[in-house]
Amino acid sequence: MERRNFTKLSALALAWTCVPSYAQNIGASRKPVGYAAIGLGTISDIFMRACAQSQTAKITALVTGHPDTKGVKYAEMHGIPKTSIYTYETFDRIRDNQEVDAVYVGLPNSMHCEFTVRAAQAGKHVLCEKPMAISSAECRRMIDACRQAKVKLMIGYRVHSDPTWIQVIEIIGSGRIGQLQSFQGGFFAQQPVGAWRLSKTLGGGGALMDLGIYPLNAIRHITGEEPTDFTAILSTREQSGRFAEVEQSMEWTMKFSSGIIASCGCSYGQSGPSFLNINGESGYLVMEPAFHYDGLHLRGAVGRESIDQLGTGKLPFQFVLEAEHFASCIRNNKEPESPGEEGLKDMLAIEAIYKAAGAPIA
Ligand code: NAD
Repeated sequence: MERRNFTKLSALALAWTCVPSYAQNIGASRKPVGYAAIGLGTISDIFMRACAQSQTAKITALVTGHPDTKGVKYAEMHGIPKTSIYTYETFDRIRDNQEVDAVYVGLPNSMHCEFTVRAAQAGKHVLCEKPMAISSAECRRMIDACRQAKVKLMIGYRVHSDPTWIQVIEIIGSGRIGQLQSFQGGFFAQQPVGAWRLSKTLGGGGALMDLGIYPLNAIRHITGEEPTDFTAILSTREQSGRFAEVEQSMEWTMKFSSGIIASCGCSYGQSGPSFLNINGESGYLVMEPAFHYDGLHLRGAVGRESIDQLGTGKLPFQFVLEAEHFASCIRNNKEPESPGEEGLKDMLAIEAIYKAAGAPIA
């Protein structure tokens, strides 16, 4: 890894470890940044609980297809007036809501682009969940819309904020495992019949879009490089119809211009770990679990030392850090740690992997 990348990563690591300073940067007398949660599913529920723990981020509006049920339930939970519950149709009126600085997009992947563009046009900053969208063309539209509206755009790569990952980056940056040589990583889980993630229209793709993006992003984040060469193979072994529209499993390799190589896998139809092996010239690190909400486990051999340690933060702490980082960027007019360009780079790699597997995104 080049020296400038070490420097960049150390600066990022430092930024994330200085979490209390975000709150101080906002200033005790300044109002918390108000977020509107769009889509009240699993991840928005976690994000809203994270904001409830924060001094600098607050949920101030809701956007839902079920205003009278889920909308009212979450409004009561978070002290939001009924006038600040919007539907997908009335969403654009959020422009007039002074309590909303930013939106949090927790919708199915294919809806990220539309709601990011509409939020930007309403003058609101956007924290959008991963994957940023379902094509690089959509990612570019989102970046352009936010640039034109002069609002900030951040993609929710929550593991960047996890102290165990920050430590990994510091160890690599210190040179203690020598020059990076290779990675092996993966993320495997099950999806039930009928889940929107199994719909090509809503998910944009299968396990790669949703789970494979974790090792992909982690490797790009650690190396500070972009992959240039890919091989990939996908397979749908289960013939029940569950995977009629998207792949069940994907394995791929990628090579970076420095010569670093990586081999990764993901699946929606097998049980397996979330892990990343980081192999240097003179030491190695293993993260497993690597991409969970908490309890990340770091092991390894660093010179003559061995490492074995478990992260202590508890869900939703990664989201608290993420929400506060973006709040600080908004209040201090700073670029977020993972801006839209970061989501676009992942999407370009995802498109290259699907193409290498013979299943290009249309
Ligand atoms: P979910 O199914 O739990 O929630 C989706 C929400 O969107 C629901 O409130 C649903 O009502 C709403 N919605 C609106 N239109 C819909 C439609 N046509 N079909 C289905 N739902 C519709 O999903 P989730 O797990 O919260 O995922 C939402 C997004 O968050 C995805 O992009 C996903 O990749 C991302 N995510 C990120 C993480 C992370 O750790 N960063 C974890 C899980 C999900």
